[in-house]
Amino acid sequence: MGRGSHFVSIFEILTMGVNEPSNRYDEEHDVIVVGSGAGGMTAALCAKAEGLSAVVIEKDLLFGGTSAVSGGGIWIPCNDDIPRVGGSDTYEEALTYLKRLIGDEVPLANIESYLKNAPEMVRYLGKTFDVKFRSVPKYPDYYADLPGGKPGFRSMEPVEFDASKLGDEFDVQRPSFRGTQLFGRIAMNQVEAHTLFSRGAGWIRLMIGMLLRYWFDFAWRRRTHRDRRQTLGQALTGSLREAMIRKDVPLYLGTGFTALIQENGRVVGVEAMQRGETLRLRARRGVVLACGGFESNPEMREQYLPKPTNVAWTAVPPINHGDGIRAGQALGAGLRHMDQVWGSPTVNKPGAAQQITLFVERGMPGCVAVNRKGLRFVNEAATYPDFLKAMYADDAKGNGAVPCWLIFDATFRFKYPMGIFLPGQIEPDAKLPKDWLDRVYYRADSLDALAQKIGVDAANLATTVTRLNGFAKTGVDTDFGKGGSPIDRYYSDRNVKPNPCLGPIEKAPFYAVRLDAGEIGTKGGLVTDERARVLRGDGSVIEGLYAVGNTAAAVMGPTYAGAGSTLGPAMTFGYVAAKDIARATQPAATATA
Ligand SMILES: Cc1cc2nc3c(=O)[nH]c(=O)nc-3n(C[C@H](O)[C@H](O)[C@H](O)COP(=O)(O)OP(=O)(O)OC[C@H]3O[C@@H](n4cnc5c(N)ncnc54)[C@H](O)[C@@H]3O)c2cc1C
Repeated sequence: MGRGSHFVSIFEILTMGVNEPSNRYDEEHDVIVVGSGAGGMTAALCAKAEGLSAVVIEKDLLFGGTSAVSGGGIWIPCNDDIPRVGGSDTYEEALTYLKRLIGDEVPLANIESYLKNAPEMVRYLGKTFDVKFRSVPKYPDYYADLPGGKPGFRSMEPVEFDASKLGDEFDVQRPSFRGTQLFGRIAMNQVEAHTLFSRGAGWIRLMIGMLLRYWFDFAWRRRTHRDRRQTLGQALTGSLREAMIRKDVPLYLGTGFTALIQENGRVVGVEAMQRGETLRLRARRGVVLACGGFESNPEMREQYLPKPTNVAWTAVPPINHGDGIRAGQALGAGLRHMDQVWGSPTVNKPGAAQQITLFVERGMPGCVAVNRKGLRFVNEAATYPDFLKAMYADDAKGNGAVPCWLIFDATFRFKYPMGIFLPGQIEPDAKLPKDWLDRVYYRADSLDALAQKIGVDAANLATTVTRLNGFAKTGVDTDFGKGGSPIDRYYSDRNVKPNPCLGPIEKAPFYAVRLDAGEIGTKGGLVTDERARVLRGDGSVIEGLYAVGNTAAAVMGPTYAGAGSTLGPAMTFGYVAAKDIARATQPAATATA
């Protein structure tokens, strides 16, 4: 835990009697990292391994940030694990792919820095801290058909982590969302989740094995219902935090960064609030802002994001308010891509702290997304960011697509999950809270009655469904091409022919769920260079200041190259920042006594 208010540091003793409060520091470190997501913890660990002292300050009482509730995937072209799983990759292919997707929206030097450092970062974490990842061979790039795109291999996931290694720190790790676990409790890695959701070979055996393993871990379950075997974002943040404990990198929880301290144009420390008191922490070598985006800041959303926007639609825990972005701005930092998000449609589940993302469900056969006019406007299986872009594009035409509706029938309801509920064969309507009906999900015996309930044009909806049912027969969606690309088919039902993403909507009762325009993070932030240094509006470097993760403008620019495109860069530039700080020969002068 953070230092107590009774703590008197050597610097307080040294500065006693000095009347200039700006010269007083409570503590001094080489590197101060703000935020305990994956980017921040990576930066602190790497700084320590490079021989520097580092501390992480975290506003929340739990560590891990959004990274802890995430899928933990990192997109790492040319990673060392690719040959093991039978793939291949080259720097040139990855560069071709990214240049095609990003265009000139991001400086080439930043993109190249990412490509060069990403596999190095993974290698370094493995060798230095035993924090390990493996390739997810079947997870295709999101635009695998483009030049340089790959049918898999580049996305990596954290290797499972035993939560008991965290000791008491387990209690202050942000837990994952129940929706990312089997039956809300049992951890699944990405390969397992894919096998279960797409009903791949052996899925029933796999599920039974997972249930038994969880059930028979009596000793651990006496402590908590949370699974000891951590996967996804839990494994990612658990293993990084455990490495911090081993390497003696302190983490101060409940310590909210409030301002940067600057001397002669160089950032030399931060101010933070801890238990109602102001702390001044001096950074001899650098400050790394890794305190997320601005998902939970309604004013910034209104100022920057496309309209309509609503803080209630986000899938991100209510922790990131743009503090790092605004602090950088106050020093004249430039901003980029502030109108963009790592978009995803989300659904509201009463009682959940934030909305649920629909990564998987839309690709399954037998559902259709419609606007208020009852018309399709998107390939339902499109990647989550593309789905969100389509919602806004259609809404801008006056068609009422923010929110939109996902319609499905009794067969779909029985077989597949839908964000707020498990497949009906496991969680039938009778098991759902009664007051959810026609509030959280809508049900009717005919499509016409369903359309009336949700305020969608009934005649158009009937035509839309008839047309889709025709596509299900032929296997070809001539309107939006659902099921036509490798990423569409990643989450689909391979037992359904001829197209695993297309099935008829024909069996009553019929269902509707409202999809909101949410996100898994904001994308815009401080402009940084290829060394993760924050740049002013005029392109000059703010010495001593670095930004990573969603505090920095995304290296991906307007695109989402593949699963792990937010965490991969967050961690890579955390590594880059630490190395750069370690290389810099000019530390800030020690605190004035
Ligand atoms: C359900 C879900 C699944 C996802 N899956 C993936 C995935 O598989 N792969 C992927 O790449 N991305 C995924 N994402 C997105 C990804 O999790 C985020 O983009 C990423 O975690 C952002 O990292 P970050 O370090 O910038 O922020 P965070 O992980 O949110 O960390 C920021 C930390 O800073 C702290 N903080 C904020 N303000 C202050 C302050 N003033 N002082 C001190 N601390 C502060 C916060 O409390 C937080 O702990 C997913 C997101 C969601 C919601």
